[in-house]
Amino acid sequence: MYDRTLETQDAERVRAHQWSRLRSLVAEVHGANPFWTTKWRATGLAAAGDLKDWKDFARLPLTTKAELVADQATHPPFGTDLTYPLERYVRVHQTSGTSGAPLRWLETQASWEWWARCWGFVLAGAGVRPDDRVFFPFSFGLFIGFWAGFEGARALGALAIPGGGQDSLARLATMESLGTTVLVCTPSYALHLLQVARERGIDAARLPVRATLHAGEPGAGIPAVRARIEEGWGARAFDHAGMTEMGAYGYECEEQAGLHVNESEFIAEVIDPATGAASREGELVLTNLGRLGSPLVRYRTGDRVRLAEAPCACGRTFARLEGGILGRLDDLLIVRGVNVFPSAIEAIVRRFPVEEFRIEVFRDGELDEVRVLLEVEGGEAGARRVQEALRAGLGIRMEVAPVDAGSLPRFELKARRVVRR
Ligand SMILES: [Zn+2]
Repeated sequence: MYDRTLETQDAERVRAHQWSRLRSLVAEVHGANPFWTTKWRATGLAAAGDLKDWKDFARLPLTTKAELVADQATHPPFGTDLTYPLERYVRVHQTSGTSGAPLRWLETQASWEWWARCWGFVLAGAGVRPDDRVFFPFSFGLFIGFWAGFEGARALGALAIPGGGQDSLARLATMESLGTTVLVCTPSYALHLLQVARERGIDAARLPVRATLHAGEPGAGIPAVRARIEEGWGARAFDHAGMTEMGAYGYECEEQAGLHVNESEFIAEVIDPATGAASREGELVLTNLGRLGSPLVRYRTGDRVRLAEAPCACGRTFARLEGGILGRLDDLLIVRGVNVFPSAIEAIVRRFPVEEFRIEVFRDGELDEVRVLLEVEGGEAGARRVQEALRAGLGIRMEVAPVDAGSLPRFELKARRVVRR
């Protein structure tokens, strides 16, 4: 079903594979796909044959989400990143819309199989096998979320269990009665399910779950969050990264040492977001190689990452992002001159008995003022301990206030914990 032999090949071999895939992509897309044909012709790539080497690739223009949003607004409902006539497409999904209008994305038969193949790397990285029973507590709606993961589990030969249309308690019962061994959801929802289990006197660690897989938020890559999930479920928690418009590109191996980029299906670059120059730490730029019906080439993900220099102990040679996704560039807060990602705040907050939290941001001139609201054990005293830890860890004093248990929103999909006032 999918070929994973490239995972341990040397860089030269991987580059050669990528180059041949890229050439096929450009040959298929140039002239057929209005979005890319217009964009490339404007920058001197008149025909597919003009792409002769990696230097030509580096000269291709970067692409932003704003361009895609504008394209879909001008050409509703699907925009012009379409290589084939509409009848060739068999599925439609859209982004969660947590940051603005949702993007719609169409799939062909081939691109949907490609998604499942990419998820094969994610599941295999976490050690998922054909004898596993994989549960997806996810509302199977327009948001692509874990639809593709479900396909990936089936393609791998595991038993895929849909968990839509159930509340958390019913989901826990399904997990128990069907002998779930792998749980796939956002990190927030894994924590929420644990809380529901605790309230009902269910010990989640006694369920047969041995691995949990998380995407949608940076959570599973944050040590304190991972530790809570692993302890609560009595399982190992793995991080994964993907985007509706890009695909499932990043996965953790059993070393749990950051995210590997699936370089057999994606080309990864890291750039300084200000200058566009290649950099070890900066913005992740991706190209997908197997979604020819609506590809993305040199797409600015908006995610801040840092490339690892040392090879991974697992033996995979694919690029590795240390600490996973460090944060969204547009989520970066500047608090009294100090750059802080919300994930850095979460990394400290989660060391304490906090059920849920929210970061409120107030713009004061050019500066961000931050207030952290906590559902924390011990009320005022508990909040003060978190405040001290934030000051020690980040070097800045923030207002921290306790709120009533259960008063902050819970999230099944992408959590929205940063609120700008
Ligand atoms: Zn590894």
